[in-house]
Amino acid sequence: MLDLIIRGGQVVTPWGVGSWDVAVQGEKIVAVALEGALPSDAARILDASGKVVVPGGIEPHAHIAAPIAGRPGEFTAPPEAVSRSALFGGTTTLTDFAIQMGDFDIFQAIDERTGRWSGNSYCDYSHHCMLLGEVPTRVMEQIPEAIQGGFSTFKIFTTNIRPKENIPEGEGRLVGMGHLSGIMEKVAANGGLMFVHSEDDDIVQYMYKKLAEEERTEWFNIHEVHNNMSEDVSFRRVIRVAEWTEAAVYFVHVSAKEGLHAVREARGKGLPVYGETLHNYASFNADDYKQPDGMKYHTYPSLKSEEDRQALWEGLIKGGINSMATDEYCTDFATKIAGRTTHDITGGHNGAETRMGITFSEGVSKQGMSLGRFVDVTSANAAKIMGYYPRKGAIATGSDADIALLDPEFSKALSMGDLHIGDYSIWEGWQVHGWPVTTILRGKVVVEDGQFFGSLGDGQLIPRKIGGDILSRPAC
Ligand SMILES: [Zn+2]
Repeated sequence: MLDLIIRGGQVVTPWGVGSWDVAVQGEKIVAVALEGALPSDAARILDASGKVVVPGGIEPHAHIAAPIAGRPGEFTAPPEAVSRSALFGGTTTLTDFAIQMGDFDIFQAIDERTGRWSGNSYCDYSHHCMLLGEVPTRVMEQIPEAIQGGFSTFKIFTTNIRPKENIPEGEGRLVGMGHLSGIMEKVAANGGLMFVHSEDDDIVQYMYKKLAEEERTEWFNIHEVHNNMSEDVSFRRVIRVAEWTEAAVYFVHVSAKEGLHAVREARGKGLPVYGETLHNYASFNADDYKQPDGMKYHTYPSLKSEEDRQALWEGLIKGGINSMATDEYCTDFATKIAGRTTHDITGGHNGAETRMGITFSEGVSKQGMSLGRFVDVTSANAAKIMGYYPRKGAIATGSDADIALLDPEFSKALSMGDLHIGDYSIWEGWQVHGWPVTTILRGKVVVEDGQFFGSLGDGQLIPRKIGGDILSRPAC
């Protein structure tokens, strides 16, 4: 007898959308069948009539239990809190960062993360390796073994993000082009992929100084520091180094039309280059900074113009942007709005719960994004690019039974009562049309009718391996 049949929904599979029934045995999907073709004796039959049935979301970019910049000893929300809110929002896999720095090497960083998450997550997870500053040769030499161990993605920054004078000695993030070329060579030769926060540090640091001289350091000018030119120049430099080293690159948080154009041009040349944007970049623009406490909308690099925001949607719907992420960095509201100048504002927010619903509401309901594309940008593409696929990111026989049901008729202004993390949301009051209502993690129904049935320890570390097609050409 089957454990679970999901019956009567619009099911989004890798080969199309249809009225199919999904059969689950244990933790796996064992059949996607024509309506009524499955035996009717299952331990549980879940009626999905009127619902859209999609693979559980894959969050590619989250900072969980991470040190808060400028506040020593304080950390962003932990896996216990973020994983629960993610499941409420239809996301079943989170990816955060194992941070290598100075003498603390890649394996120590991975051990620290797996120790922090093991037994403390309601959903599945993995970690990118984050390499900071002047990465020692000894650390670069650990890259092949990390990839073999299932950690196949490497995050670097081409900027220190914050004003140079605010960064303690030895804690710079910037990886220079020389070190980057060395990292890329190692990563490319061993089946890994680069995650790049790409901004031109010279432009960023120059603009911090310029605004200070002009006495215009109010937070709402932050997009003049982290500006379109910086994204344009930096993306193109990184792509050239990737071309020389044959590395596959995923640009995190594309924020400007220039970044999208650079990604598209590279993909047009057949390079394995991918782009991500954030659901706050797709919902707000730099004018929103001017609202009272408008720094709450900020995530580095920055919100840009309305024209940029619309370009990001064009990329999400038509191609060039592969995935919608959160850059989750959950603090309480008081911490979020404490910094009030371009030099000390706090980036990030709590978004793991709202990512799928906002993308559905803004993309599918309001702009006619296809259901297939919705699944690509919220789950399948991230799964492919990071190496979770086809175990994750697909409703298909043999894949993990990670499934979200969305109700396209759900229509209301979001209140904090709808959400399950933090003491604020930048979407409070936002009118949504369509929202995740049921979530299944490896065959276990963990969210249903607003109730939570997950257990700490349900979450597993998922080893990753990226397909050769993703690494050699723009394959999603
Ligand atoms: Zn980030």
